Amino acid sequence: MKIMENIFLVPGVVANPFILVDADGLTLIDTGLPRSSHKILDYVSSLGKSAQDVKRIIITHSDLDHIGSLAALHKLTGARTYASQVEAGAIANGKPSRQIKPAGFSMRRLMFTLLGPFMKAKPFQVDELLADGQVLPILGGLLVVDTAGHTPGHLSFFALGSGVLFCGDSMVTDEKGIHGSRPGLTWDDAKAREAERKQAALGAQVVCPGHGPVVKEAAGKFPV
Ligand SMILES: [Zn+2]
Repeated sequence: MKIMENIFLVPGVVANPFILVDADGLTLIDTGLPRSSHKILDYVSSLGKSAQDVKRIIITHSDLDHIGSLAALHKLTGARTYASQVEAGAIANGKPSRQIKPAGFSMRRLMFTLLGPFMKAKPFQVDELLADGQVLPILGGLLVVDTAGHTPGHLSFFALGSGVLFCGDSMVTDEKGIHGSRPGLTWDDAKAREAERKQAALGAQVVCPGHGPVVKEAAGKFPV
């Protein structure tokens, strides 16, 4: 699904992966659950590109629905892989970067609690570490934003030219708007609020979340 020029959402994959198109190749943000690689690469083909055109895979955080197909896609594309130091450490250990708090009830939380021990990705070594404030040469400048809260090393990415914010799970969206990180799945609530404020201040026009629809005309719709 085309979001705007050179920005696409891969449809039908849990935890929205996004594809950014540059002259030197494609960047994939997040990789979905395990066994999502063919769906993602089929979508790449539909853009008239090949697996080898995927040059970079950048990761918002190490939850399984974001890194599940990282190893497979790395193998199939040869792309260079990127994450924060904390999340890269979790990915290398094959363990989540934080505990899921069992307080309260939701089907999603129940699923995490019951399936948690089975929902692990194989350990994977990320190529390059990203830190807050770095500007990557993607879409004319993609700012790395530390948005710890949902997980301890969560990153968001802000396309400076087009005003598009890729917020991973630091915020979620629905038809009503943009909301904070889901409480039962949040590592640190105070930090999560801080991450929301930080992102609201970026002046994003479009918000692309890991879960929920893309929100356009995003100004004023932030949870703070
Ligand atoms: Zn997620």
